[in-house]
Amino acid sequence: MQSTAQMKGFENFDRCPWVDTAKPDYVDYHDREWGVPVHDDRTIFEFLTLEAAQAGLSWYTVLRKRAAYRKAFADFDAAKVARYGKKQIDALLSNPGIIRNRLKIAAAVNNAGKFLQVQEQFESFDAYIWRFVGGRPRVNMLRTLQDYPATSRESDALSKDLKQRGFKFVGSTIVYAHMQATGMVNDHVAGCFRRQPIIEKYSREEAGLKKAKTLKLNSKLTFLKCHRLQARVSNLKSVTRYPGARRNIADD
Ligand SMILES: [Zn+2]
Repeated sequence: MQSTAQMKGFENFDRCPWVDTAKPDYVDYHDREWGVPVHDDRTIFEFLTLEAAQAGLSWYTVLRKRAAYRKAFADFDAAKVARYGKKQIDALLSNPGIIRNRLKIAAAVNNAGKFLQVQEQFESFDAYIWRFVGGRPRVNMLRTLQDYPATSRESDALSKDLKQRGFKFVGSTIVYAHMQATGMVNDHVAGCFRRQPIIEKYSREEAGLKKAKTLKLNSKLTFLKCHRLQARVSNLKSVTRYPGARRNIADD
């Protein structure tokens, strides 16, 4: 598969300093996914699991194993993973495609169960997690690798809350990496070509959503107006036909 860089001729575009441009899959991940707001629960669970698996390793190590992770973790269907018993856990422990760390595997299964509980309480994990940034991506102004924060006030709060809910491998650093990956914070450096398009895309989507809400409200109001008008007309008709009807309607 061609990377976005190859497809769109972005070879000379400036990217975040942490991207190893010698690795096309890494470049592709940066160009397509990293920092793009995610609101789909399955993808959020995928990142949460991968970030936890990454602890102590490089992100690229986990990224290369992503396809194997998807297969091993039922395409990140939390309901299925939550039901994993000894047999499945043993299979995961002997699966060379993933990080075979007993604690991390147990955490993934445990977290799937907690994930479902949050979904039940908040209707979606998306609704729960985005509350920690007020529903809108935080935008940092970073210039160099040294500017990158490892945690933030929001990641501290989210980490604390997840721990209280029984999630494992959700320290503030892991959680911050998750927030960066899923666009809860836009940490593309000022000179990176992805920074601005991401901001513009969700701003456009927000504007569209606002417009749709206004239209919906307007059509609701029009419907109510028509409904009232129709009621008046039928009232008038019945009054015309049966002079005593108005009182009956008023009594309803
Ligand atoms: Zn970037």
